[in-house]
Amino acid sequence: MTALTMQLETLRRIVQEVDAALTLHDALELMVNLVAEAMASDVCSVYLLDERNQRYVLMASKGLNADAVGEVSLSTGEGLVGLVGQREEIINLDNAASHPRYRYLPETGEERYNAFLGIPIMYRRKVMGVMVVQHHEAKAFSEAAESFLVTLCAQLSGAIAHAHAVGQVDVFRKTASSPTSAKIFQGVAGAGGIAIGRAVVLYPPADIDLVPDRQAENIGDELGLLQTAVQSVRADIRELDAKMQDALMAEERALFSVYLRMLDDNALPAEIATKVRAGSWAQGAVRSVIEAHAAHFAQMDDEYLRERVSDLRDLGRRILARLQTADTHHREFAEDSILIAEELSTAALVELPISKIAAIVTTEGAANSHMVIVARALGIPTVVGVTELPITQLDDAEMIVDAHQGRIFVHPVRRLRQRYREVLREEQQATKSLNAYENRDTITTDGQHVKLYVNTGLMIDVIRGTQRGAEGVGLYRSEMLFMLRERFPGEEEQRIIYRQQLSHFANKPVVMRTLDIGADKDLPYFSIKEENSALGWRGIRFTLDHPEIFSAQIRAMLKASIGLNNLHILLPMITTVSEVEECLYLIERSLMEVQEEEQVKINRPKIGVMIEVPSMLMQLEDMASLVDFFSVGSNDLTQYLLAVDRNNPRVASLYNHYHPAVIRALNMIVKKCRELDKPISICGEMAGDPATAILVAAMGFDALSMSAANLLKVRKAICNIDMRDAQQLLAEILLIDNPSVIRSWIEHFMTARGLGSLVRPLHQNLN
Ligand code: PEP
Ligand code: MG
Repeated sequence: MTALTMQLETLRRIVQEVDAALTLHDALELMVNLVAEAMASDVCSVYLLDERNQRYVLMASKGLNADAVGEVSLSTGEGLVGLVGQREEIINLDNAASHPRYRYLPETGEERYNAFLGIPIMYRRKVMGVMVVQHHEAKAFSEAAESFLVTLCAQLSGAIAHAHAVGQVDVFRKTASSPTSAKIFQGVAGAGGIAIGRAVVLYPPADIDLVPDRQAENIGDELGLLQTAVQSVRADIRELDAKMQDALMAEERALFSVYLRMLDDNALPAEIATKVRAGSWAQGAVRSVIEAHAAHFAQMDDEYLRERVSDLRDLGRRILARLQTADTHHREFAEDSILIAEELSTAALVELPISKIAAIVTTEGAANSHMVIVARALGIPTVVGVTELPITQLDDAEMIVDAHQGRIFVHPVRRLRQRYREVLREEQQATKSLNAYENRDTITTDGQHVKLYVNTGLMIDVIRGTQRGAEGVGLYRSEMLFMLRERFPGEEEQRIIYRQQLSHFANKPVVMRTLDIGADKDLPYFSIKEENSALGWRGIRFTLDHPEIFSAQIRAMLKASIGLNNLHILLPMITTVSEVEECLYLIERSLMEVQEEEQVKINRPKIGVMIEVPSMLMQLEDMASLVDFFSVGSNDLTQYLLAVDRNNPRVASLYNHYHPAVIRALNMIVKKCRELDKPISICGEMAGDPATAILVAAMGFDALSMSAANLLKVRKAICNIDMRDAQQLLAEILLIDNPSVIRSWIEHFMTARGLGSLVRPLHQNLN
């Protein structure tokens, strides 16, 4: 083994073992021991920052006086530890005592150590604590040691932040907080709104880490299920053993006897049953017993036993899978259910009883993922990227979801609940007051008409869009129809659905986008797994590789348009001229075929391309000679211009429609389209946010297309501004180089015109 693989191996081992620890105290304890061992250092200690008291508390140490742990602390400006925190930098010294910031702590017995290496433990740009390794020998630590610890601290900071944030242990008091004490979590606001309700945890089958704690409905039934599951797993293992008899040597098959011993009535099943008798449902009991054993094994010195952790977890998964297949009663959704999941696909969302879902909270995902766009269309408050949410502890917990601010309050105190109920009522009233904008033209105070279209996908969008006076459909996301099936829909199936869309908006334009799957738009029956999916096989790239799917869709659209003549076809994710040429060829061919088959003349639909990929900015002229119109997909254009994955919570704060590059690019596009005399609309989320909507209206987009949920807000904003003022605002904004300043500038403009509530939620000062 090379030194590098050895280090990597050590690193992986430490991270895995610490990850398996049940509490933060266990994790820290384990960490200092493993690090001291791996680095052959005399001391390894971890200090965590107690933010309330602004002190670094010694939380765990291998080598320093054990009594000092939890007792000794340093203020943030004190000692070398404080200096590491202040500078957010590594400090590596051969003789710590000679440094002016050295602070002698007699309780720790520290005077015997010379070399000092301090590493800040950083999480999302914040110092969480400091790790220190020390040595008798007066010799600075090597660069390799530094980088090893930096890597380790970066890996472990997440685990520390998690335990810290969930209050699993109140770290500075050494007492466990009650599982029902109030807690706040921060995520990314997806679809705005507020909800008060109870959590329903959705978890993927057989993912042992995500099984929630839940009370058994009937202990006897749960015990029965457990017994059957264990028996089935035993039978499976025996079968496996027999099957492998010829393929594996006896020693290699020894694992199966280990499994069977663990499955002995007096071993794991007995412990699980005890938990069930104490009131837990069987699946939760399996998780908790396996977790406890895994953490215990992970701490053992014996390598053989440490390696049993993965066997143990495998066994747990097997029992769980059996229990889950036996679990036939599906979860009932009560009114005001708050859906909690690690990740939720659009297809999974639309299958659920939508009317019962008050809010959605996920630990993964980001604000402009497809699921969020659909949730927004459905008017469901959504918070994503709540990375620290302890999913397994939340089932049935009371919660407030403040999706304006991306906050989740678990077990909220009564006063907060009351206050949020009031806010909810105020919001409902404000929404009602928007009804006055339902049947009005969208005209600025100086008489400029701005066309507002609706984005559709589900039938509910069509109904709401018509009710709210949309002047057409600016984007029909045809992938929704594909997501709701168990296979690719046939031509006739598609024709019927497209006809509904077109006829609901008869005499008005309906822009139908061809299938745009890939990245986060997954079909349940055609999963595309790619390392870098946003840059991968998506949109037109997929459909041009499958002309049979593309042509069937075009034929269905053309047939659906017979007699209505309001169909426009929009091509997604176009990067190159040749892609458009190929599409035009296929569309033309389908047109001829359908006319011949149906024996009718079909009007050639207008054909447009989406501007989503930055390469389009440099090719507008080339494209203009081929197509009839353009539509900006600002969601993807923002992602590609800023090189920020729109689905990655880690970079969610960088995904920003207010970025000057995005605003300037849009302005440039509109100017160019004017020169080329091509209609240009916008159908990304920027059109539906009242603040950016007035900006894009001022740029001169021919139409703004948005989810029905935002139509009235945008109309209200536009009806209350003077276009010349908005253009002046745009001119000022184009000179600003900072996204936050741009945002505040627009907010200021709107507040001055009595539109502040459209850009700032009612309760901004609530907490
Ligand atoms: C966009 O990218 O702005 C867009 C409208 O398409 P989608 O959000 O469906 O990718
Ligand atoms: Mg897009």
